[in-house]
Amino acid sequence: MKIIQIPLLRDNYGYLLICEQTKEAAIIDPSEAEPVLRRAEQEPIAVIAILNTHHHRDHTGGNDAILQQQKLRVYGHKSDASRIPGLTDGIDEGDAIKIGELIGKVLFIPGHTTGHVAYLFDNNLFCGDTLFTAGCGRLFEGTPEQMHTSLKKLMALHDDTKVYCGHEYTEGNLRFALSLEPKNHKLVSRFERVQGLRTRGASTVPSTMEEERQTNPFLRWDSKELQASLKAQEPHLRLDPVSVFAKVRQLKDSF
Ligand SMILES: [Zn+2]
Ligand SMILES: [Zn+2]
Repeated sequence: MKIIQIPLLRDNYGYLLICEQTKEAAIIDPSEAEPVLRRAEQEPIAVIAILNTHHHRDHTGGNDAILQQQKLRVYGHKSDASRIPGLTDGIDEGDAIKIGELIGKVLFIPGHTTGHVAYLFDNNLFCGDTLFTAGCGRLFEGTPEQMHTSLKKLMALHDDTKVYCGHEYTEGNLRFALSLEPKNHKLVSRFERVQGLRTRGASTVPSTMEEERQTNPFLRWDSKELQASLKAQEPHLRLDPVSVFAKVRQLKDSF
């Protein structure tokens, strides 16, 4: 399996997922068509599908123009048939997707939108705008309970799972994380590493589930330091996981 990251728009990432045995490939979240098609032309591959994580334009904006050039299967959650351009295969939790000899598993993870999915190919997770590196997506259509359930589902994945998300947001996310857990050494060292990468204009995506568990404030509802930071701002806050998550999300919305 080969994965090629393609920077799109201002801070989006689309991906080419290639089966090296058959040379068949999928485009994941084409924000725009032209840079994706240009990149695909450089590889000896046959693109057979588009995989969309959710309906937002910055993840589906390239669908129509790509489909004008070639007929492809388009995968996305079954509830988004009217919102994902060209959708041919409405999918849901547990479905399997075949790209050449690669088999991907669909995870239904609503919260950012009601029809958000992730695609898991071996230990490579394409999770759109649900889990970000050091952050998570805004709750545009879902509830904190829903998003918390979705993030818990992703947290059940193995430590070495690579997190390929939809945006380059890591540095800003870590700045926010440090405001809640300034004594988390893993967080401090990740921030330094990420700053170094960004100074050179390098990508900070993918991360691993292990790093996210250790440093992503939206997964750290059990952290005593994070809980204390929230209590300092809202003394009567309940400390159950959903309430902690919801408060972190609320703070980030205005950070
Ligand atoms: Zn989105
Ligand atoms: Zn997005």
